[in-house]
Amino acid sequence: MIPRPFELHSPSTLSEATLLLKNTDDSKALAGGQSLVPLMKLRLVSPAHIVDLGKIPGLSYVREEKSRLLIGSMTTHDEVATSPLVNRRCRTLSEAASRIGDQQVRNRGTIGGTLCHADPAGDVPAAIVALEAELKVAGHRRKRVIKAKDFFQDMFTTSLRQDEIVTEVSVPVFPPRSGGAYLKLGRGASDLATVGVAAVITLDGKGACKDARLALAGVGSTPVRATKAEDVLRGQKPSDDDLVAEAGEKASEMSNPSSDIRGSAEYKREMFKV
Ligand SMILES: Cc1cc2nc3c(=O)[nH]c(=O)nc-3n(C[C@H](O)[C@H](O)[C@H](O)COP(=O)(O)OP(=O)(O)OC[C@H]3O[C@@H](n4cnc5c(N)ncnc54)[C@H](O)[C@@H]3O)c2cc1C
Repeated sequence: MIPRPFELHSPSTLSEATLLLKNTDDSKALAGGQSLVPLMKLRLVSPAHIVDLGKIPGLSYVREEKSRLLIGSMTTHDEVATSPLVNRRCRTLSEAASRIGDQQVRNRGTIGGTLCHADPAGDVPAAIVALEAELKVAGHRRKRVIKAKDFFQDMFTTSLRQDEIVTEVSVPVFPPRSGGAYLKLGRGASDLATVGVAAVITLDGKGACKDARLALAGVGSTPVRATKAEDVLRGQKPSDDDLVAEAGEKASEMSNPSSDIRGSAEYKREMFKV
C-alpha cells in the first residue's frame, strides 16, 4: 500500500527538529523507518508531518564513559550488535540487538527507534529494562533523563512528550564477576519474540548470586522485570538446576501474555519457564 500524503522535514539540528515536532500538529520523528514506514504503508498511522532525524549529526556513536556505555539514538542495531565494546562490556545488549529481524532491518533500524516504537515483543526494550538503562531526551525547551523502567507506559506507548526526541541511551557496564544473555524464542529470522528473556547475573566472591536482573519480552503490554525470579536467585549458587527451575516458574507467574499469531498465552507462559 501507499502511505497517505505527508510533508517531509529534514532538519539539520536537534533544536530545529524539536521545534518542528512542537509546532506541527500530527507529526512523527523518522529514524530507520523499519516500524514507522510499514505502519504508514498499512495506513495504521498517517502523520501529516514527518521529521527525519537522519540529517542531524552526532546521534550515532558507541563509547564508554565512567562505567557507562553511551549509545547515540541513531546507532543502528547492526552497529550495536557488532560493537566489540558493547559485546565486551554489556553482552545482554549486543545479543538482543543481534536477534532483531534480518540483516537489512538491523542495517536500517536504530536503538532509539525500537525503544520509541515500544513494541512489547521487541528485543532491545526488554534488554534495556534488565540493564537498568537511562534514556537522554531533548525537548523544545528542556532536556531530561528517563529511566528505562519509567519509559514504557503501555503497548506502543512511552512517556515521551510530543516535542521530545531520544538522543542517547546510557547503560551501566556489567559489574565485575557478571555475565549476561538475551534468549529469544521466535518463529524465524525476521519475527518479533514469541517470548524473550534478558538477564544479567553478578556473582559474589564465593560464586553465589549477588544480584540478578531479569526482564521479559512478549509478556504483556510492556517489558516486565521478573522480580520474583530475581529474588529466588539472589544469595544462591545459580548452578543448582532446581533453583533455576524455580526461578523459571516465578518468571512465568509474572508474565501475562496474550494469545496471538505467535502462540497461545498458555504456550508462552510455559516457554518462559524454559
Ligand atoms: C521485517 C522486520 C522484522 C523485524 N523484526 C524485529 C525483531 O525481531 N525484533 C524487534 O525488536 N524488532 C523487529 N523489527 C522492528 C525493528 O526493530 C525497528 O528497527 C524498530 O522497531 C524501529 O526502529 P527505527 O529506527 O526503524 O524507527 P522508526 O520506524 O523510524 O520509528 C519508530 C517509532 O519511533 C519514533 N522514533 C524513532 N526514533 C526516535 C527518537 N530518537 N526519538 C523519538 N522518537 C523516535 C518514530 O516517530 C516512530 O513512532 C522488525 C522490523 C521489520 C520491518
